[in-house]
Amino acid sequence: MALTIVQSNCTVCGACEFECPNAAIRFEDETYIIDADLCTECKGHYDIPQCAEICPVPETCVPA
Ligand code: SF4
Ligand code: SF4
Repeated sequence: MALTIVQSNCTVCGACEFECPNAAIRFEDETYIIDADLCTECKGHYDIPQCAEICPVPETCVPA
């Protein structure tokens, strides 16, 4: 399981990128994306997905 970023909601603020314990979030083609192969939903690191927690826009980092 992984999270994904809803591109139409993302303001490209960059806040999520450095919160990810797996370096699964990167800037590409003028937006931020989550590598589904690297995202673990933060399991083993945090109780809740950190990208969704830090993102200022509701419903932007969501289950894929
Ligand atoms: S849920 Fe956690 S591991 Fe997955 S992209 Fe977000 S911060 Fe990274
Ligand atoms: S924190 Fe949210 S709005 Fe900011 S870059 Fe990440 S997904 Fe986009």
